[in-house]
Amino acid sequence: MPVFILQSIAEALYQITRLDIIHYVHIPVMAVSVNFIGLKALIMVIAFQPLVHLKELLTTLSISNPSIWIILYSIFSSIVIWGITHQHKESLESLSQRLSSLKSQAKELAETSHHLDEDLILSSFYSEEKSLKEELEELMLLSQVATVADNAHIFVYRDGELTCLCSAKDTECNPVDEGIIYEVLLQKKSILIWAEEGEIKNPGYYSGERIKSLIASPVVDDQIPLGVLCVESIRYRAFTEKDQSVVDLIAKEIARSLGRQRMFSQIKLSYKAISMLHEHGSSLSEVIELDEILQKIVESSEALTGGSAVLLWRTNSSYRIYKPDKLIIKEQKVSIKKLKETLLELIRSNKKPLYFSDLAMYKKKALPLNGVNPKSMFVVPLIIEKRVQAMVAVFSSKRDAFNQIQRHLLEVYLYQASESASKAMLHEEIKMMAFTDGLTGLYNHRRFQERLQEELKRADRYTEPVSLILLDIDHFKKVNDTYGHPAGDAVLKKIAEIIRKAVREIDFPARYGGEEFALIILKSTAREAKKIAERLRKKVEQTTVKTDTADINVTLSLGIASYPEDARTREDLIERADQALYRAKQEGRNKTVLYEEL
Ligand code: GH3
Ligand code: MG
Ligand code: MG
Repeated sequence: MPVFILQSIAEALYQITRLDIIHYVHIPVMAVSVNFIGLKALIMVIAFQPLVHLKELLTTLSISNPSIWIILYSIFSSIVIWGITHQHKESLESLSQRLSSLKSQAKELAETSHHLDEDLILSSFYSEEKSLKEELEELMLLSQVATVADNAHIFVYRDGELTCLCSAKDTECNPVDEGIIYEVLLQKKSILIWAEEGEIKNPGYYSGERIKSLIASPVVDDQIPLGVLCVESIRYRAFTEKDQSVVDLIAKEIARSLGRQRMFSQIKLSYKAISMLHEHGSSLSEVIELDEILQKIVESSEALTGGSAVLLWRTNSSYRIYKPDKLIIKEQKVSIKKLKETLLELIRSNKKPLYFSDLAMYKKKALPLNGVNPKSMFVVPLIIEKRVQAMVAVFSSKRDAFNQIQRHLLEVYLYQASESASKAMLHEEIKMMAFTDGLTGLYNHRRFQERLQEELKRADRYTEPVSLILLDIDHFKKVNDTYGHPAGDAVLKKIAEIIRKAVREIDFPARYGGEEFALIILKSTAREAKKIAERLRKKVEQTTVKTDTADINVTLSLGIASYPEDARTREDLIERADQALYRAKQEGRNKTVLYEEL
């Protein structure tokens, strides 16, 4: 339909204007339309076309009539134009096909992008780094060509000195310690210089040529000096100020490229840091026991910083020490007083991490440990419930061994770790509550039975003796009756305190029930246990318990049996110790009896 309208408009125009040009163009226009409207429509139009002019055409048809030429030309140009537009249409279609296939690929990629693994991400970064070198070489060559220089060099600034990254000519180029290129870098200002005679003195590098003209431009990214771009010539006055501004521009471009590389290294570093944090952080969530968590914290602190590490965990009266397996230190515990004599006290009182890059500058000892004398140390406090519950110290025999990134990484990790430690502490407290007796703070009967079973098993494995002391307060009923129940409680508490002090760290004191107590004495025969029992008995005998209502004196009766000498099972061992205790009562109380003596 649109073609018909077009055709009619063209005809009307011709009728009004009588311009032959309309006939020249309207048929090619229609030919183009075929590609978009369809051949059938056009055939119909063309079929009508001759009818409009048929009479005219037939009467005037001859070679000399220009109309015939117009028609022939129209037909010819139509064929050509139809061919061209057809080709374009095809390429348009293939392009749109490619576009839709790209779209579907992109969609697929977006859907599967969470499967992209670390290697893929890293390799895409690496490929970018590789192309950077090529990019810099191109820029350097550009500066050489643009200034018609004999040679060009890029120097990069690392660790306080310049090194030649690449040169246009394949010659050696060695920077020396000072000279023009250093000055350019220091002043962050480019220079155009030539020698009036001879060669330029001290350009700052040696390239084997007698340099007579030189442009050196600083490569600076965000005020940070990254390097110098140089073009040189063996001709006098080889460069103009215009050349200098070209080199300056290219140096800026190089700065941008190098800046990208800096960013790339930072991304790589951050990526590594994040995966390390993730790895060490998630390994913490696998454990719930406090001891195990603290041990892991020490090991991870070493892995994250590359130094040696210790962790000091605050208990009531001292700090418990956690160290990695390979570190040899004798101490298990450190007293609060000993800690105060060291630099750790600063961290404990300020509650802030502190870095000692050179410990030689301090008078105080770094750590309260024998045989450890580091040269640098970084200490982070673990704050739990607003107090310094622990301190992690990483140290090294090198000066200034921990850079800012390592320190920051450790801080972030320990912040996360303190959460885990705090949870484990709570877990420990709940466990302790279930295991301890409310009045005396000693282990309860249930825990005593479990522990005795464990210790007997261990004793079997290591063929070590275990002794059991059962003790009972003499005439305790009378204490209650005379002074009241609260006074009786006060006596029980006091006895528990004396027991706790009398036994060794490795032994296990428990409230057996009522006014009876049980002590598991490890690695000891009955005779060795008797020494502890007697010490305890005498101490109680000498102690006066002061209560609100009266001063009370009590005595103890004690019975001892030993594994494996006196009994082979837990039940038998308790039974035999109880028999010995019964004998002590029978023999007048305030006495220790061994089962073997019965
Ligand atoms: P013996 O020398 O024969 O052991 O005499 P005893 O009076 O100590 O013996 P008995 O076992 O008959 O009495 C134990 C008393 O301990 C009975 C009970 O009132 C008291 N007792 C048990 N548990 C508690 C406690 O938790 N608090 C107080 N105040 N008294 C307790
Ligand atoms: Mg009793
Ligand atoms: Mg009693």
